[in-house]
Order: sequence, then structure tokens, then C-alpha cells
Amino acid sequence: MTRIIIDEEQCNGCGDCLGVCKSRSLEVHDGICVAVRPDDCKLCMLCKVTCPVGAIEIEV
Ligand code: SF4
Ligand code: SF4
Repeated sequence: MTRIIIDEEQCNGCGDCLGVCKSRSLEVHDGICVAVRPDDCKLCMLCKVTCPVGAIEIEV
């Protein structure tokens, strides 16, 4: 199962990762990114490379 790990200390809620996620697996809730549909993740890693603060890790 795919695990999308968000470092809540690092995340600033900018939403950049949402814009690149074609599976709509991510949302920002109360200023923090949340993986709402990890099972739909396509493992493209775009969120990880796009995040300006390196807050996302994807584990397969
Ligand atoms: S790896 Fe790709 S599909 Fe998965 S959450 Fe990140 S942007 Fe979305
Ligand atoms: S791109 Fe990074 S900092 Fe911005 S909302 Fe997503 S996880 Fe948080």
C-alpha cells in the first residue's frame, strides 16, 4: 500500500502539491497538507519534487 507521508512541521500549506497531483490524492486542511486518497496515488512523485520545503515522502 502506498503511504504518503507529510512532515507537518515542514508543510506551510502552500498548496503547490495539490496543483500537480492528477489523482487528487492531496488536500490542504487547516493549513496542512493531508493525503486524503493515498490509494489513488499514481506514484508520479510530482508532489515530492514540487514541494518547496521537502515535506513529502512517498513510500511504496
Ligand atoms: S506521487 Fe503523484 S499521484 Fe501520488 S500524491 Fe504525489 S502527485 Fe499525487
Ligand atoms: S507543497 Fe509542500 S508545503 Fe506546500 S502544501 Fe504541499 S506539502 Fe505543504
